[in-house]
Amino acid sequence: MDELMPPEAVVRLDDPQTGLRGFIVLHSTALGPAAGGCRLWRYADEASASEDAVRLAAGMTMKNALAGLPLGGGKAVLMLPDAPFSRTQLFEAFGRAVNALDGRYVTAEDVGTAVEDMALVAQHTPHVAGLPQQGGKPGGDPSPWTALGVIRAMEVAVRRRLGRSLSEVTVAVQGVGHVGMALCELLHAAGARLVIAEARSEVAARAATRFGADLVSSRAITTVPADVFAPCALGGVLNMATVPTLTAKVVCGAANNQLAMPEAAALLARRKVLYAPDYVVNAGGIINVAAEYLGWSQQSVSVRVDGIADRLSQVLDVAEGRGISPERAAALLARQEVVGGRPGCDKTALAA
Ligand code: NAD
Repeated sequence: MDELMPPEAVVRLDDPQTGLRGFIVLHSTALGPAAGGCRLWRYADEASASEDAVRLAAGMTMKNALAGLPLGGGKAVLMLPDAPFSRTQLFEAFGRAVNALDGRYVTAEDVGTAVEDMALVAQHTPHVAGLPQQGGKPGGDPSPWTALGVIRAMEVAVRRRLGRSLSEVTVAVQGVGHVGMALCELLHAAGARLVIAEARSEVAARAATRFGADLVSSRAITTVPADVFAPCALGGVLNMATVPTLTAKVVCGAANNQLAMPEAAALLARRKVLYAPDYVVNAGGIINVAAEYLGWSQQSVSVRVDGIADRLSQVLDVAEGRGISPERAAALLARQEVVGGRPGCDKTALAA
């Protein structure tokens, strides 16, 4: 399994009445229903929206497989309408579209969508998670779980590459939205020094005050002196222009699709930068989403999110052992999971 494997299905959404326009991509259902969040974002045209959806859905196949979840990979990408629109009507229409897939796709939040949007979706389909939490069960905003998985992975990566703990490093965080802000809280509590870049200036200023962090521009965040670079904004930040200028020796963050092209992984490895593959380390949110959808306990979420540290260690062992990049190693392990077709992947069999 790798990103070049074509998706099983691409469903085009086009409802001029509500402004719903975009794509649901079912990349793989080999391990279970295709699960992955719904992104609402501004795209130049349908081609770029569908390209993004296919890439993100492929990433979900790898992420869900490596997190040991009984779920395949999918994603919804909705194009932010240019004209004024009713959010209620748009997400209700999206809920109907999800429902028409009869459980082959399970949705949740992603960039640009929130718990309230998923509550609207839930009026029209049961195949949605990331709903308001009820009675101590898994649910709600998955971002804090994503942040927790990232910091668990970062501890491993920093120990392995630098022989240090988080209290002894400077972390450059790009984007302090849902995940980035939660990650900064955890890093601050762990004693790390923070440098932050955030596109929304008031949010950036708030974070700087709260965490005693230095603020830099988005452009400068990859070059600012730091031990760790944590991309927590959008994808594509690791490319042939940024990688040569990185000062950090570890890259570990939440953003999906951090590598703009496969060559960037090889270049990171050549420069001896330890890259913790995004879809290995940012699985905490989907683990919480899966637990909500499949009826697992909150305790099982904690155990599985903590397990991201061991998974990353396994990926790095394979990379070292075979002399390949961590990205390649993670793809190999994911392929074994998907092609091997982990048995017993139905909802009831695995509810635990
Ligand atoms: P978000 O929209 O809440 O936060 C993104 C933040 O990045 C925003 O504050 C935005 O202003 C800022 N930003 C955008 N471009 C920037 C730039 N060039 N420089 C600096 N700041 C910039 O999104 P989120 O939910 O926190 O997700 C962040 C990333 O993590 C995304 O790539 C998402 O796909 C990925 N991810 C999120 C989750 C989750 O649980 N939310 C799970 C897995 C992966």
